[in-house]
Amino acid sequence: MPVQEHDDEPRMPYQLPFPKDAQDEIVIPDAVATDERIWVPQTENVSFRPLCLNRSQGYWMNLLRVRKSGVLSRHRHPQPVHGFVLKGRWHYLEHDWVAQEGGYVFEPPGETHTLVVPDDVDEMITYFQVNGVMLYVDPWGKTMGYEDVFTKIDMCRKHYEEVGFGADYVEQFIR
Ligand code: FE
Repeated sequence: MPVQEHDDEPRMPYQLPFPKDAQDEIVIPDAVATDERIWVPQTENVSFRPLCLNRSQGYWMNLLRVRKSGVLSRHRHPQPVHGFVLKGRWHYLEHDWVAQEGGYVFEPPGETHTLVVPDDVDEMITYFQVNGVMLYVDPWGKTMGYEDVFTKIDMCRKHYEEVGFGADYVEQFIR
């Protein structure tokens, strides 16, 4: 039996309405935003650009941007992370591999790591899907804080209010 039966109309669009409860798509033509106000500052050298803040499934997709010599604090992932490097280069203090521009990484549940951008990289941008929660920890695993899709949404609201877009600007990224 073939994987797919022969389709007599391969160019005919789907003819039925989508399920009435389905959510709207998100389309962001300028995902690597050039307008600095879109980037939500996290620490001095770290900021993120929201793409999909999925509160119904508890994950977030964002572009993480780290500038020269920046560090993303040590944290544990109880759930998986997917990353695709769009620009620059980075590594974790806990691994000997380097994530390079054009590279993909899968981070399995159980990972605890500290992301570092080397001195010779002015800027790195990575597309990350982070599931559930990330727990900021000390070197021995004691939890110092956390982030989840809700803290991300709150950070966006506060920032977009401050830059004059209005807190509701974040709504377009929430599903
Ligand atoms: Fe991480």
